[in-house]
Amino acid sequence: MSKRDYYQVLGIGRTADAAEIKKAYRRLAVQYHPDKNPDDPAAEGRFKEVAEAFEVLSDPRKREVYDTYGHEGLKGRGFGFHDPADIFQQFMGAAFGGGGIFGDIFGFGGGGRSRPAAGPSIEYEMEISLEEAAAGAEKKIKIFRRETCPRCQGEGAEPGSEREVCSRCRGAGRIRQARRTLLGTFATESVCPDCRGEGRIIKEPCRDCRGQGTVEREREVTVRIPAGVGDGSILRQRGGGETAPRAAGPGDLIIYLRVLEHPIFTRSGDDIFCPATVGFPLAALGGEIKVPTLEGETTLKIPPGTQSGEVFKLRGLGIPHLHGSGRGDEQVTVTVEVPSRLNKKQKELLRQFEETYSDKNRPLHKSFLEKFQEFLGK
Ligand SMILES: [Zn+2]
Ligand SMILES: [Zn+2]
Repeated sequence: MSKRDYYQVLGIGRTADAAEIKKAYRRLAVQYHPDKNPDDPAAEGRFKEVAEAFEVLSDPRKREVYDTYGHEGLKGRGFGFHDPADIFQQFMGAAFGGGGIFGDIFGFGGGGRSRPAAGPSIEYEMEISLEEAAAGAEKKIKIFRRETCPRCQGEGAEPGSEREVCSRCRGAGRIRQARRTLLGTFATESVCPDCRGEGRIIKEPCRDCRGQGTVEREREVTVRIPAGVGDGSILRQRGGGETAPRAAGPGDLIIYLRVLEHPIFTRSGDDIFCPATVGFPLAALGGEIKVPTLEGETTLKIPPGTQSGEVFKLRGLGIPHLHGSGRGDEQVTVTVEVPSRLNKKQKELLRQFEETYSDKNRPLHKSFLEKFQEFLGK
């Protein structure tokens, strides 16, 4: 399935500015939010698509890459995508001060969500070879993530600067408001929009993070891939994701593994399958052939009289069992090659051979003839 153009997804022009992008995202995210569209996979898909488009276009660096190279350009640059719900919550939090409006939009009331959650997760798709899936591997990847600002330690205030007690909430971080509705007036408590629940107002924002408390960093991360993983396996590094203001801690780094197709082997469960061809004389006389294995090669004994299509099992040369010990098998399917483009001498030799050739030498033919006779006898 081809991806839609991000500008098209948000319904904006290619020259849209930050405010237009935000406005478009807000409108569509609210429209397609899962809380508003329960059990509607189409809306959920749109909500995800809109979040992804917003994530790229609202980040000048990612937007530039996308404008220049398109969807392909974003792959392999370590730009993970975040959980659409996280993006939305963060967006609403940043735009309206701690989720007060979030409650209002959907009528949750009560001031939205104030329980601090972990920061957003980062999702990363990684391609590995079948050999790496079998043996396990350690891979280094580069990711961009927001981390706690070292200058202000996430406080958002310039070190040494003063912080004022918030005058709106008098330091409580929450305010009580009377809400008039059709059913009467209710008192609701919500996060103070002035200080975003901090209770204090920063007079001088930190120079490095401009008061956000987090800074974006490019990090090289080592990912340990255990032996025996498969296509679609998911690895999770706890705390390897991003930090957000007022988050309980960093989110996770989630790695989706894609095992690339192998030029020789196919895999089913923990067994691998491999084709091999043997010459007609060798199949008749028996002998040895070399076959590839995940680690290199090994010798396979071909017994005399081997037929085309016979499968030989190399025990323990498959994929290690991810849970528990031991390994699957390698199964080699042999094709017997009938010689072609014979020269005069070879033809002569085969004719001489044929003169000595009897049904005794033809086990398959013999059983076929028997079945044939039985069939005619009925
Ligand atoms: Zn800072
Ligand atoms: Zn306040």
